[in-house]
Amino acid sequence: MLLRKKNKSKESTGKLTYLNEKTMLNLVLFGAPGSGKGTQSAKLIDQFGLFHISTGEALRDHIARETELGRIAEKYISKGHLIPDELIVELIEDVIDNDAKGAKGVVFDGFPRTIPQADALKNLLEKRGEKVNAVIGLEVPEEELIERLLLRGKESGRADDNLETIKNRLEVYHNQTHPLKDYYVNAGSYLPINGSGKVEEIFNEIASGIENATGEKRRSPKS
Ligand code: AMP
Repeated sequence: MLLRKKNKSKESTGKLTYLNEKTMLNLVLFGAPGSGKGTQSAKLIDQFGLFHISTGEALRDHIARETELGRIAEKYISKGHLIPDELIVELIEDVIDNDAKGAKGVVFDGFPRTIPQADALKNLLEKRGEKVNAVIGLEVPEEELIERLLLRGKESGRADDNLETIKNRLEVYHNQTHPLKDYYVNAGSYLPINGSGKVEEIFNEIASGIENATGEKRRSPKS
């Protein structure tokens, strides 16, 4: 792994202090469907040099390749339901230990989506001497989410971006995923971000939040 080493020093201004520990920068991008997780992930991986894990994209890839996981996932995704936790956790563990190996850090996009998934991520990272450094919560009003998803459905043709499935996905989000906000607020890692507005402005807010919370710097400020 390409790991960062930081010495504790009086000059250190970062809020998190790494005591000669080998650490990665692990970020969770959290928010409802249509909140802009995919768009902001792309900018984060570029500006902070991180590896991107999108469980939704990984599952769509399995569906396209007609794997066993893909066949199972398709049934849940088409209804707007969540794939069972065990399958998702297995997928994430495989990506962490293989595709993301050697990365400076990881952006988790669309994962975790349930409390058991968040517990599993915590354990997976702890076993590897790592943790979730920050959870970026993209907060967008519901009417705007529906508008964005319907537009995306028209433009990209994503099968689950139709009104009926969108409504199910938002309900699933409120019941199963939104409780994670308090989970991460209590853990002290939640960073609320207003997800309405211009992509660049939202990104600048996210990047500044990460810089303040972790001491990491983006490649080119205000890009
Ligand atoms: P997304 O691309 O993140 O909007 O995900 C699309 C669909 O994939 C979701 O509506 C779920 O059916 C499934 N999915 C993605 N991530 C997860 C996850 N972490 N847990 C369970 N199901 C997931």
